[in-house]
Amino acid sequence: MFVDIAKIYVKAGDGGHGAVTFHREKYVASGGPDGGDGGKGGDVVFVADTNLSTLQDFRYKRKYAAANGAQGMSGRKNGRKAEDLIVRVPMGTLIKDAQTGRIIADISSKEPQVIARGGKGGWGNSHFATPTRQTPRFARPGLPGEEFEIQLELKLLADVGLVGFPNVGKSTLLSVVSQAKPEIANYHFTTITPKLGVVPMGENSFVMADIPGLIENASEGQGLGHQFLRHVERCRMIIHIVDVSGSEGRDPKEDFRIINEELRKFNSDLADRPMLVAGNKCDLATEEQIADFKEFVNKQGFEFFPIMAAIRYEVDPLLNKTVELLSTLPPLRVYEAEPAPEIELDSFKEKEIKITHEDDIYFVEGKWLYRLMQSVNFDDYESLNYFQNVLINSGVIDALRDAGIEEGDTVSIYEVQFEFMD
Ligand code: GDP
Ligand code: MG
Repeated sequence: MFVDIAKIYVKAGDGGHGAVTFHREKYVASGGPDGGDGGKGGDVVFVADTNLSTLQDFRYKRKYAAANGAQGMSGRKNGRKAEDLIVRVPMGTLIKDAQTGRIIADISSKEPQVIARGGKGGWGNSHFATPTRQTPRFARPGLPGEEFEIQLELKLLADVGLVGFPNVGKSTLLSVVSQAKPEIANYHFTTITPKLGVVPMGENSFVMADIPGLIENASEGQGLGHQFLRHVERCRMIIHIVDVSGSEGRDPKEDFRIINEELRKFNSDLADRPMLVAGNKCDLATEEQIADFKEFVNKQGFEFFPIMAAIRYEVDPLLNKTVELLSTLPPLRVYEAEPAPEIELDSFKEKEIKITHEDDIYFVEGKWLYRLMQSVNFDDYESLNYFQNVLINSGVIDALRDAGIEEGDTVSIYEVQFEFMD
């Protein structure tokens, strides 16, 4: 079975904890704090592997977790950063948030992409030493790594998508114009996985994909076509093959109309995708049949190429026209990552916070606060303003007062520390 969709869980590593240690030397009674910071947790990184062509592996292994950062050590030694987890996927894999469908990344270049970020390490106690606080006996835990469920969707990277009813000769055409070796047989649904082939045209070589299994109502899940229609989406153009002889008692005009309709229903963009029409099995068709069908497609604004795929007859004009058309078309579509939605603070039912304090430092924590911190740009005045307002409106400032904070004490919210002013 051809697996081109999978749902998996990714978890980046947590940051290591900061250390609480004090410098010790012979004859020195008590040295200063020298606890190092925790190391950063590993990221989960996705990278394209051109040797892979399916998402098969992801059916069996569903959880991908990177290692946690190491704890800080004495002597201000920071804990080691955990190694990133590298996940290999086929070229053209789209990564979406499984809950919302938001596109997180499109792995369609060699560039590795970080999908889940490891948590930062916590500060060791040496960070908290001040002239008035010489022996801080506390440090911070590391921050949690990001974790969520993602959906992987393979959308093949092909310049040209070959579409048409079963048995019209798609696989045959691909086999005579490229090195690809698709299964060819005189029965329906021989080909159950899309096949890619490079069509050698010198500098103008292009990639052609055989998109099998399209039948009427494929867009609604009939047959195997539904899962394969996705692979047409990225194609820069389409070659629509029709059995012009109607050798199986089919009506080529009806076939042509039905497939076009399925493409349109699946994604209305596909209706506008540039398309050439190849009339195959001309050896079995009469002159009149060919002329009649040619007129039919020309009238709809498509160019028509009568061929005999099996003997590669008149295939070159089709390929030349394909090259010509491709040269006028935009490059393969790469999906832009969609920005994570602005966090709706109201979506956190309870804006729970936890305040702890060590000496005169007040640590404020809370899941929603953590999310908020990740979205605030602390170099930007407006953003900072917004942040301050949220702290007031959500009751954080009041809660700090209740916890006994005084003017001049330090507020520490994850990465940010500021002096409390009433
Ligand atoms: P697909 O299902 O669209 O991939 O069709 P295939 O490539 O598997 O071909 C279906 C059948 O049509 C096979 O038996 C082929 O040998 C045959 N075929 C392909 N091209 C031609 C042609 O030009 N003329 C004739 N008569 N048969 C062909
Ligand atoms: Mg086939």
